[in-house]
Amino acid sequence: MEKIKQTVDRARAAFNTGKTRPLAFRIQQLKSLKRMLQERESDILRALKADLNKSEYNAYSFEIMQALAEVDHMLEKLPEWAAPERVGKTILTLADETYIHREPLGVVLVIGTWNYPFALVISPVIGAIAAGNAVVMKPSEVSEHTAKLFEEMIPKYLDNELYPVINGGIPETTELLKQRFDHIMYTGSSGVGKIIMEAASKHLTPVTLELGGKSPCYIDNDCDLDVACRRIAWGKYTNCGQTCIAPDYILCHPSIQGKVVESLKKALKEFYGDDIKNSPDYERIATKRHLKRLMSLLEGQKIAHGGKGDENSRFMEPTILTDVDPSAKVMQDEIFGPILPIVTIRSLDEAIKFINEREKPLALYAFSKDNKIIKRMIAETSSGGVTANDVLMHFSIPGLPFGGVGNSGMGAYHGHYSFDTFSHRRSCLIRGLKMESMNNLRYPPGTPKKREWAKFFVTTHFSKRKMGLAAIAIIGILVAIVVKNRRAWLGLKALLAASAAQIMWRLGKS
Ligand code: NAD
Repeated sequence: MEKIKQTVDRARAAFNTGKTRPLAFRIQQLKSLKRMLQERESDILRALKADLNKSEYNAYSFEIMQALAEVDHMLEKLPEWAAPERVGKTILTLADETYIHREPLGVVLVIGTWNYPFALVISPVIGAIAAGNAVVMKPSEVSEHTAKLFEEMIPKYLDNELYPVINGGIPETTELLKQRFDHIMYTGSSGVGKIIMEAASKHLTPVTLELGGKSPCYIDNDCDLDVACRRIAWGKYTNCGQTCIAPDYILCHPSIQGKVVESLKKALKEFYGDDIKNSPDYERIATKRHLKRLMSLLEGQKIAHGGKGDENSRFMEPTILTDVDPSAKVMQDEIFGPILPIVTIRSLDEAIKFINEREKPLALYAFSKDNKIIKRMIAETSSGGVTANDVLMHFSIPGLPFGGVGNSGMGAYHGHYSFDTFSHRRSCLIRGLKMESMNNLRYPPGTPKKREWAKFFVTTHFSKRKMGLAAIAIIGILVAIVVKNRRAWLGLKALLAASAAQIMWRLGKS
């Protein structure tokens, strides 16, 4: 355990040298990380196969391709995002420099989970490196092959002191959480999310919690059911249902339930054929323990399709449950497996009420030809993200923040949002030492007149037109001050001061 403290201390010492501050260093590390993704592709695919039986295609598209897209986006945009962001000025700071400087937070801890064990560690790490932080990585012990690969591979590509990998289970994570970090990004269950937040509070460390929840999928009667169910089946059964934004359950009218089941079955046959156990595209449940939990959710349910599981091979059939009672066990917690319950509702209102009576989900899906129904669903419910007439796809858009709300998490990442999450937005005002007379207003002794002027400056809303006029007024005052000792300019001074005062007075009135 002492090694954990030493590793974090080393990362902090390396951060404190300031070597992550120059953009060139960050870009070089990101390029090296990209090289790792390319050169070690087959090792990554092999580890994912061993952990979750991921096919090459699924593993590449969901884990490696996603990371490559993220690193390319970051490399392209980093100089622009890291540049000072100019902000509007007030009348009292017209001559000054005002901007937001994005600086690294320090040492960041990234704790990953096992369902996309590579992508869910590497993707936040890309954002944290881009923002100039040191990063301690803690992959999930459940996906042990990927975890081991991280430990072996990362030091060969990234700075060894700044970006260490720590492997282990709950004791190691608990020890890690005792250390001081400047940000913690955790992906996993809501239950452990609470433990993370409690530990972080001891050091007042901010957290991003990427959690889970029951993501509903509403299917409207007026809908192409074959298309809808093909998309739903893909999003639900990919990775054997172990996807945080997989549709957790379906809400539909009883009159279309039978057709929904048939369309889902048709899609499953298209994807995996008749012998799904031998399909190279169908994954496995992470552990026997997880499989046992999933099988227990089927007790007492009406199984319309699937339902069998095999502990030894961790295989579980894609399963559909019909007429599910909302109080059933399968409707209490996130399923996180290949079980798709259908709960029937009689109207859109009832669907909205059903969703709003439960915790805010990570994702929400609505299928309908009618855009008004989609817009109502978005306006009257809440969730981390929404995709209408498809599933999962909002995750793939770098311009959209990815994160939960309420019980499904806090904070967000991807693209610019990652960069922002791992940066401190430092407010900078750079003033000159001249024009001291302008500051008399705020210095003691206070007078009623000063108060009037202060009120005017603070409470007057300055549009661009007003700011222009005010600038003329200030220039007038300045010229008057500059010429104050020259007798020859006395008349002009009086004139300028009078017109400045008049403009100010007019501004105050308008
Ligand atoms: P897990 O068991 O792999 O735990 C995740 C991490 O937490 C691991 O690194 C583990 O070491 C650590 N951990 C576990 N228990 C701990 C404890 N008591 N104290 C300290 N650390 C502990 O993963 P999981 O929790 O089974 O993950 C599944 C959940 O993750 C699901 O709810 C899923 O929805 C969610 N998830 C969310 C996202 C997202 O992006 N929002 C992505 C994937 C998964």
